[in-house]
Amino acid sequence: MNLSFFYPLLFLFLFALLIKWIKSKESKWIGSIGEYRVRKEIEKLEKLSPGMYKAFHDLYIPKMDNSSSQIDHIILSEQGLFVIETKNYNGWIFGDESSKYWTQVIYKRKEKFLNPIWQNKGHIKALKRWLGEEFSNTPIYSIVVFMPRAKLKSGIHFTQSHVIYPKQLKQVLEQYRTKVIDHETKQYLAEKLKTLLVKDKQKEREIKKKHIQSIQNKQKCIKEHIQQNRCPKCGSSLILKKGKYGSFKGCSNYPECRFTEKVS
Ligand SMILES: [Zn+2]
Repeated sequence: MNLSFFYPLLFLFLFALLIKWIKSKESKWIGSIGEYRVRKEIEKLEKLSPGMYKAFHDLYIPKMDNSSSQIDHIILSEQGLFVIETKNYNGWIFGDESSKYWTQVIYKRKEKFLNPIWQNKGHIKALKRWLGEEFSNTPIYSIVVFMPRAKLKSGIHFTQSHVIYPKQLKQVLEQYRTKVIDHETKQYLAEKLKTLLVKDKQKEREIKKKHIQSIQNKQKCIKEHIQQNRCPKCGSSLILKKGKYGSFKGCSNYPECRFTEKVS
């Protein structure tokens, strides 16, 4: 029997498997590159002015419902806390503070993603709740960092968050000069924030898995609600309505509840 065709075929097969594996990991790696880039920038700042900034990377904040909120970076300074969300998108980025979704445009392809300012607002809310009443007056600032490969539409003014490139981080932090946290409180906060870091790799994987599962569960729960014509936000019934852009399901509790879902 002639087996000369076997090795080229085997090679092709393995090559295809490799490509598939790389594709499956791609977005995770790209995300990590963004976090790594910002981390380097923060570490530079820490070295530049020793003692001024204390940074924490990849934190998990436990929430009431047993899920967790993942924060890319927190910088602690006497001026307050800075919560940083990194986004590693390329192409043109369009969006404003008030819309739920932002748009990424690459050539003619458009992709929607959740407004990162809203996303970070959620992180800050979770952090505030976790810190408790004691720190309710501690200012927490939001920073969203895009990689240089993203082209941010300029001229948009944001009030609830800074939206910047890594290089602008220093400049943003230096805008805040008023000292609001004394040395002892800063030490105490640092110890507290340290507990949100996950050192143990095995534990880290478990928490990440739980984190992803809780997101999936939430989405499943929302889907089930909608299928049963119940509003996932407030529990009222959903009504089929007709709008400018076609049919949609809307909450019967409108205008108190503004939940809507497109009917495809
Ligand atoms: Zn509702």
